[in-house]
Amino acid sequence: MLEIAGLFKAFGENAILNGINLKVPTGELVFVIGPSGSGKSTMLRCCNRLEEPTSGAILIEGTDICGLGVDINAMRRKVGMVFQSFNLYPHLNVRSNVSLALRKVLKLPRAEADERSMAALDLVGLAQRADFFPSQISGGQQQRVAIARALALEPKVMLFDEPTSALDPELVGSVLAVMRDLKASGMTMLVVSHEMGFAREAADRVIFMDGGVIVEEGAPEAVFGAPKHERTQAFLSRVR
Ligand code: ATP
Ligand code: MG
Repeated sequence: MLEIAGLFKAFGENAILNGINLKVPTGELVFVIGPSGSGKSTMLRCCNRLEEPTSGAILIEGTDICGLGVDINAMRRKVGMVFQSFNLYPHLNVRSNVSLALRKVLKLPRAEADERSMAALDLVGLAQRADFFPSQISGGQQQRVAIARALALEPKVMLFDEPTSALDPELVGSVLAVMRDLKASGMTMLVVSHEMGFAREAADRVIFMDGGVIVEEGAPEAVFGAPKHERTQAFLSRVR
């Protein structure tokens, strides 16, 4: 379970997150929508301390990852993150992109790292592309490699920040299919995305954020079908 409790984040004088409380129970998928600048990415980045919260707590299975004396690297491994840009190393093949952190961070021997990488690539349907370089595979496949890279570290929670936004429309489906499989396998997921169809089908809960707070939350059919808050209604009428 991921729990965000009383999260505030300011950049200098700019208050960006103004008290976020959110629980993602184990095995659930919480889907986040909201206007540009509402703090969605900042919230995700606080969840693995790519940003330092100004105050508040981020609990992964009950442990506050912001607490004093926390081994930040050990905690970060529990939280996998996938961004809009895949950030693969162009000079490393697919297998090495996935195994790099296993060897450098977890210090696994090469054979074991390779074995775990192949298992992760298998999960995203790309075991046959292990020897290819990023430039030799499609954007959708590159994003699936990025997902495999995160999964290889065996995280407890996966965070996705607009994972399909940089993809050509015909490549979006393959990435969403991997995310659907991940959800089916019991992964705990927090997903920022514009793919409302995916949310309707896969999300346990939808969160609408605006101005650094959660304005509305509920089941997908409730938030999309009958949004209660005026700001949610205005947002949904703009994006649909
Ligand atoms: P989008 O839908 O465009 O991705 P978002 O909801 O993800 O938007 P954030 O990226 O979290 O929004 O940004 C929220 C606000 O925080 C923005 O006004 C942004 O300019 C500001 N911000 C984000 N990162 C920083 C930073 N490192 N320094 C200063 N301000 C920042
Ligand atoms: Mg963002």
